[in-house]
Amino acid sequence: MADIGHILARELGAEQVILRGDERLDDYERDESPMAPHPCDAAALCRTTEEVATVLRLCREHRVPVTPRGAGSGLTGGCLPVRGGVVLSVEQMTAIKEISADDMIAVVEPGVVTQTLQNAVEEQGLFYPPDPASLEYCSIGGNAANNAGGPRAFKYGVTREYVLGLEVGLMGGEVLRVGRRCTKGVTGYDLTAGFVGSEGTFGVITELTLRLLPRPPAQATLLAVFRSVADAGRAITALIGRGIRPRVIELADKSSIDHIRPRSRYKFPETAHAIVLVEVDGDGDTLGMQIERIGEDCDAHGAIDIFAANDPAERRALWEARRQISPALKEAHRYKIGEDVCVPRSAIVEMLARVDRISAETGVPTAVFGHAGDGNLHVNLMSDDDPADPAVMQKLEHACGRVFADAVALRGTLSGEHGIGLVKRDYMPLEQSERVLEWQRRWKAMWDPDDLLNPGKILPARRAACSE
Ligand SMILES: Cc1cc2nc3c(=O)[nH]c(=O)nc-3n(C[C@H](O)[C@H](O)[C@H](O)COP(=O)(O)OP(=O)(O)OC[C@H]3O[C@@H](n4cnc5c(N)ncnc54)[C@H](O)[C@@H]3O)c2cc1C
Repeated sequence: MADIGHILARELGAEQVILRGDERLDDYERDESPMAPHPCDAAALCRTTEEVATVLRLCREHRVPVTPRGAGSGLTGGCLPVRGGVVLSVEQMTAIKEISADDMIAVVEPGVVTQTLQNAVEEQGLFYPPDPASLEYCSIGGNAANNAGGPRAFKYGVTREYVLGLEVGLMGGEVLRVGRRCTKGVTGYDLTAGFVGSEGTFGVITELTLRLLPRPPAQATLLAVFRSVADAGRAITALIGRGIRPRVIELADKSSIDHIRPRSRYKFPETAHAIVLVEVDGDGDTLGMQIERIGEDCDAHGAIDIFAANDPAERRALWEARRQISPALKEAHRYKIGEDVCVPRSAIVEMLARVDRISAETGVPTAVFGHAGDGNLHVNLMSDDDPADPAVMQKLEHACGRVFADAVALRGTLSGEHGIGLVKRDYMPLEQSERVLEWQRRWKAMWDPDDLLNPGKILPARRAACSE
């Protein structure tokens, strides 16, 4: 393989390329998944579309793999350079080029941090809804690449709903503009939608045109505590059945509650086996009535405590309890796998029962919380043993495989928002037939015939026979 690092340094300037041997490269060889770091030859820190195109051209010429990278907050190993080569980072492409209140759009570079964009548009009375919990540091390009979701997806949908147009660098150096600026349009195949969620395997996003909404004037939040997940599930079904469309419906199980109990300002009753956090937004005059009705539904389905936040401080306290779950699990255990299966909403209670069964049968402690409104459940599998011991990992992977199989058996899906990357790649055949996988391989080959752009992700190796 050519010494690609030095070739890129000559083109981009030495300060824009981190070469092997420089300890700063370590940061580009890992993400937030439990996967081990993967070594690469160099990281190219691109500042412009032209620089992205140059890297893609030179890497194609020299047959070097390239792995796009945003902020590295991914949970599936998606930005890990599994075949070495070059990590192409867009973290320095942070311009918000335009916010147009008239057209209700923003045009941004991919390295803009999600929270930064949200703050900037809110200052102008506008709203960018997708809210991954990592929004303080993840990038908007990474959100589009992974089609990120978050709690507000129940009402507002996921990132794909907000991406109107993209500029993309293709392997070989061609730069393509797809999509549009207007909020409506059906011309041609929807290539934009195809790039969204392709996890950096089709092209490198260098600019995004995003749809915005008017900022909702007010929000109201309620926490309800239940003796069982089944009661909580029935309350959720009832309130949705009433026609109320909360922006958030979050659910957490007993294990999650027990983990946050010692640190929470809200004192959970001992009999709490499930909590539901509901948030509505819109016109301030109607929110009080909506919260009252949601409270009635929770009451009618056996809530043992209901707490409606009366001011921003109380709202923050309720959200704090929800946001503490993941860090509390991480601190309490030596090792944690966090999965994000999604099941039809009617199957949530059954999925939670199945996770309890898997935990009891395998001896792997679990905790489940997530976005109950859309059935997206964060199933956490923990271990207090040494993860370097192969038997420990085998036990966790066995339990994890059962979780995936059960989600699919309930007509759900492997991932609701984190993507497939490396971590879930080999589970794809659980959900998709070999023929569906084969069509996706052809699609990938159309953009990247030499399999150089983020190779080894999403699609498992071909099986010998191709059957339905
Ligand atoms: C604590 C925590 C909470 C999280 N909560 C959520 C959540 O609520 N919802 C959710 O959806 N995710 C969540 N995530 C996962 C993660 O933050 C998202 O997947 C996020 O969208 C990744 O963005 P990133 O910029 O960090 O991308 P990276 O991790 O850098 O990359 C992720 C993938 O996108 C590709 N990519 C990145 N930038 C580009 C680009 N410009 N062009 C082409 N491909 C690119 C990479 O190749 C890789 O495949 C969470 C992560 C953490 C650590």
